[in-house]
Amino acid sequence: MKTIGILGGMSAASTQIYYRELCNRTRERLGGLHSPELLIRSLDFAAIEALQMAGEWEQAGEILNREAKALERGGADFIILATNTMHKLADQMMLGVSIPMLHIADATAARIQQQGLRSPGLMATAFTMEQPFYIDRLVEAGLAPIIPETADRAETHRIIYEELCCDVVTEKSEAAYITIAQRLADRGADCLILGCTEVGMLLNQSNVTVPVFDTTVVHCDAALTMALGA
Ligand code: GLU
Repeated sequence: MKTIGILGGMSAASTQIYYRELCNRTRERLGGLHSPELLIRSLDFAAIEALQMAGEWEQAGEILNREAKALERGGADFIILATNTMHKLADQMMLGVSIPMLHIADATAARIQQQGLRSPGLMATAFTMEQPFYIDRLVEAGLAPIIPETADRAETHRIIYEELCCDVVTEKSEAAYITIAQRLADRGADCLILGCTEVGMLLNQSNVTVPVFDTTVVHCDAALTMALGA
């Protein structure tokens, strides 16, 4: 089994989900006492968020690059960056790193394609919904993503940073997310990407009317397949 290097803490709430998912899935696939070989580097999200808000992406990229190198030195065979947003810096992060990175948007797009779907609604941070680094990647994979209208994007983003990243889950925000997801479906989305690694804390297949692709779950599943060489 290969060692998965997780660059996480963005936020800590979702890195805990990664750990649990990877452990559960390894047990399901291999049985018995099997658990995944992992190296987890969990950063202080307050520092990263401050750089995001200040638009200091270059500096954030330097941190990711330093930590990716540390994961490689520590023995990781490949890296998963446990946040959609920070994939904005994927190229900078991988400079001088010789192990591969499993890109969260590629893993998700592949899964959507496999199911014959084409127009995913995307609920994520404003960075992920509004900047080209993620949307373009989905388009290049042959998909036609639909993002929420302005007010819904702001609310989706607010709930991620003010609540989900602080491990706060409320019925009010769940209801708001369900409404936003439904509006995307009404506008023609044939499925929904939970394009932020915390959004699965509020949305899942039981409260969304179209097929749901939770990037955290998809990323973990693809990472495990890579780790097991399957
Ligand atoms: N975990 C989130 C994501 O998947 C948001 C936190 C961050 O900005 O990294 O985009």
